[in-house]
Amino acid sequence: MRPVIRNLLFLVLFASASRAADFTWRTERFEGRDYVSLQQMEEFYGFASHLAPVNNVIGLDSGKAQMQITLNSREIEINGVKHWLAFPVIEQGDSVLFSRLDLAKIIEPSLRPEFIPNMSPVKTVVLDPGHGANDKGAVSRYGNEKDFALDVCLRARRILLDRGYQVIMTRSTDVLIPLEERPQVANRTPDSIFVSVHFNASSENGQASGFEVFSITPRGAPSTADETLSLRDVRSEPGNVVDVQSGALATCVYHSLLGNIPQADRGIKNARFAVIRLATVPAILIEGGFLSSVSDSSLVGSAAWRSLVKPGDRVGIKISAAGGKFFSSHKSVVEAIVEGLESAGIARKDIIVWDREGLAAAGYTNHEGGYQVRSIESGEGYDPEAVIFSGILGKLIWGDLDFAKRDVKQRTIVPQQGDQLSQDSHLCRMLTS
Ligand SMILES: [Zn+2]
Repeated sequence: MRPVIRNLLFLVLFASASRAADFTWRTERFEGRDYVSLQQMEEFYGFASHLAPVNNVIGLDSGKAQMQITLNSREIEINGVKHWLAFPVIEQGDSVLFSRLDLAKIIEPSLRPEFIPNMSPVKTVVLDPGHGANDKGAVSRYGNEKDFALDVCLRARRILLDRGYQVIMTRSTDVLIPLEERPQVANRTPDSIFVSVHFNASSENGQASGFEVFSITPRGAPSTADETLSLRDVRSEPGNVVDVQSGALATCVYHSLLGNIPQADRGIKNARFAVIRLATVPAILIEGGFLSSVSDSSLVGSAAWRSLVKPGDRVGIKISAAGGKFFSSHKSVVEAIVEGLESAGIARKDIIVWDREGLAAAGYTNHEGGYQVRSIESGEGYDPEAVIFSGILGKLIWGDLDFAKRDVKQRTIVPQQGDQLSQDSHLCRMLTS
């Protein structure tokens, strides 16, 4: 590292130091890099002296902030949040050493965010749903990354607009926008931040799961996915002008995700993805979970159900049983819906599948797979208005309203593997209490 960059890094540190303005950091050289000792960090941030490491982990507490350091590892926990350092924390003789770059770019902004320079109030959030059109991103049996990312951004957009923010979407339909154009939208917009939403996949590890948030890798550091430093890492990128601010944004978003989504947390990471590398406003990329993992992808898929129901609701599914075993609402379709509702927190006992009569003839029996099956008399003929307003039912949350209007003659029956199955799902109504 050239001296001028070293000085800049320290400027960041000292420009923000107030109560500790006269604190002088002593650095040690190791493998061509500057390191600072844990002992100095304890003094500067007011941590009580650390105890001997347990299983290579050292816990620090200042009463205001907590850190957990793992020796010989890049993993560190700051105030309960997992961060990935550029370089491992090392032991040299009696000292525990941190790279000065990690101190300046990750530890200091996390412990004293109030001293991060050039933080102005955000007026506009640029939401960037990953992929689009032919570029599906990761695929799963529950759906594609491009659609989940768009769905998340459209929901976030509504919430942010309600809170008074302006929102710009890099795409709001199923189109593909070139990567380098996406951050430009934010770069042209004053007081904006850029948030790219993706979902992950791993071809090597089907068990990999959890969410992670990325901000740009500081100049001179390897990205979290890289073990060693390469020539590429010393190149300056447009996004490096705001790398500390982007790291702070990543930390805020990560804190708000923790505990609010059930997936495991994989930490705050650094990368040089095009969309965050080219953004000159604070920018992050969220990987919302692994579509290659069955548990994550079913959770991501259940988001659609969660927008319709909330845990504790009783849900009625009105089917059409008049077609007997073959032409009624398919049991497999109903079962898939029940599974979706269950993944969204509805107990099976609170799900009631109903029609006016003929449920047994259609192959449904009571307490089918834990959900209830009920026949309801509705007098002469089927009157959807009458059943919606009868006292046992609640808010209509979904309805295949076109079904009733369709011409029966146009319906086609396609024999599949010897079964006579109609193409129609015959699912008519869903209601919550
Ligand atoms: Zn992606």
